[in-house]
Amino acid sequence: MRPIEARALSKSFAARDYTVRAVKNADFSAEEGEIAAIVGPSGSGKSTLLNMLGLVLAPDSGEVTVCGTSPAGMNDRRLSALRNASFGYITQDFSLLDDETVYTNIRLPLIYNRSIRRSEHRERILAAAESLGLSDKLKRKASRLSGGERQRTAIARAIVCGQPIILADEPTGSLDAENRDRVVEILAGLARRDGRTVLIVTHDMTVAERCDRIIRMKDGEIL
Ligand code: ADP
Ligand code: MG
Repeated sequence: MRPIEARALSKSFAARDYTVRAVKNADFSAEEGEIAAIVGPSGSGKSTLLNMLGLVLAPDSGEVTVCGTSPAGMNDRRLSALRNASFGYITQDFSLLDDETVYTNIRLPLIYNRSIRRSEHRERILAAAESLGLSDKLKRKASRLSGGERQRTAIARAIVCGQPIILADEPTGSLDAENRDRVVEILAGLARRDGRTVLIVTHDMTVAERCDRIIRMKDGEIL
């Protein structure tokens, strides 16, 4: 059973006097333990595709199954439960709470996760921080971190619940080369060592070339 299988996904957005066909008839699947890059020019539909695969955005047509489960017909509560059980997200702007500590930022998704006991939180946070080299930064406010530390905090937050699939939209966009390389190495490790499935949207070919597979998009189509 594959972590993600998608068939014939399409999505359009209506503007005032025309319609943008953001993704057209896309087939996609990913394997356990695989790290794949989605590349393509700005506006080619990468984020739209990732958001449909992550069950954040409903396609106009086509279907996605996640670890064998189809979200078709689910109510909001079941859909968000499936999403929470399946995906860790790394967003482009990191979306950290600046006034909170690294510890509290990493803890956030645990608070919303009903299947992980409160007594496990601390151990999980410490393990996630350790794997990202943040053990000595746990008490620091997010506003006082460097760019690389912010991104690693965002990754720790994305892996702390242990979901099988990690989705990252331009995770290295604002990093220098050294931090970029470190982040890619960490994400590749999540796939190759922990057997998670990692999908990265990127316009950086240095990042894409270190992935197992490169998916190219142009004008809403997978080439
Ligand atoms: P990429 O991530 O490759 O830059 P996107 O998936 O963000 O591309 O966008 C693909 C196309 O869909 C673009 O033309 C974009 O302007 C349009 N688009 C994306 N999201 C929306 C939205 N919420 N409303 C209107 N148009 C959108
Ligand atoms: Mg995008």
